[in-house]
Amino acid sequence: MTVMQPAAKQIEVRDLSVRYGEIAGVSNLNLVVGQGEIVALVGANGAGKSTTLKAIMGMVVPVRGAIIVNGENVTGQPAHTAARRGVALVPEGRRVFSRMTVRENLEVGGVTRPRSEAPTRMNDVFQLFPRLKARQPQLAGTLSGGEQQMLAIGRALMARPDFMLFDEPSLGLAPLLVETILAAIRRISRDFGIGGVLVEQNVNVALGLATRAYVLARGQLVLSGTSAELRGSPQLQQAYLGTLAGSPGR
Ligand code: ATP
Repeated sequence: MTVMQPAAKQIEVRDLSVRYGEIAGVSNLNLVVGQGEIVALVGANGAGKSTTLKAIMGMVVPVRGAIIVNGENVTGQPAHTAARRGVALVPEGRRVFSRMTVRENLEVGGVTRPRSEAPTRMNDVFQLFPRLKARQPQLAGTLSGGEQQMLAIGRALMARPDFMLFDEPSLGLAPLLVETILAAIRRISRDFGIGGVLVEQNVNVALGLATRAYVLARGQLVLSGTSAELRGSPQLQQAYLGTLAGSPGR
């Protein structure tokens, strides 16, 4: 008798190219994120990090390549169906619903799940960020930047996705809050088995959290490896200066 194993959760970005008219967003990118794993996407401004996340979400349509989520080819499927595919984005700049309360923001995050699950999900968010529990009736627009980042993460977690995409979650936050946010991302991966793609300009932060990293420059993958391999690698320095971009033989 053959027992069917459930397919492993995985995001696979296969030979992805996205263009904005004449401008290449990313070119021929290959990337894999496994269940409960955190991988970092690092690179300078304009390297193509956000474009990669948008392509995984279905917010931009690639000119070439495929996005495979949990074995299903979802290339070109619209972003509003992403939550049902098991992927949630924590966007750059937080983008919480500022005229809604903290609680309402969380409820919106959970609309794709059965209503009966909401209390448990919300409790998970409050365990992760006790500050949000105290601020439930407060309008999201009146929260501090760090609290808005907690809410944006909490809202994504309400969908109980298989994967969360974090677009520069530490940007503009004070060091202590950065620690809080990074610790939460680690717990989300460890306690909930949710895989993460972490976009980060601060490479030390990224390598401290992720098990593996992909280094982009000018839309191209120039280096990838485990965080241990990449830490202190001279090639990483070069990649940041853009000198590896476009070099042959990769
Ligand atoms: P940042 O850290 O600045 O967000 P990034 O690594 O996320 O950078 P992307 O935002 O993905 O980089 O940009 C990749 C390339 O695509 C850049 O050359 C950028 O100027 C271009 N680009 C991104 N979005 C658009 C757009 N909507 N229209 C035109 N060009 C764009």
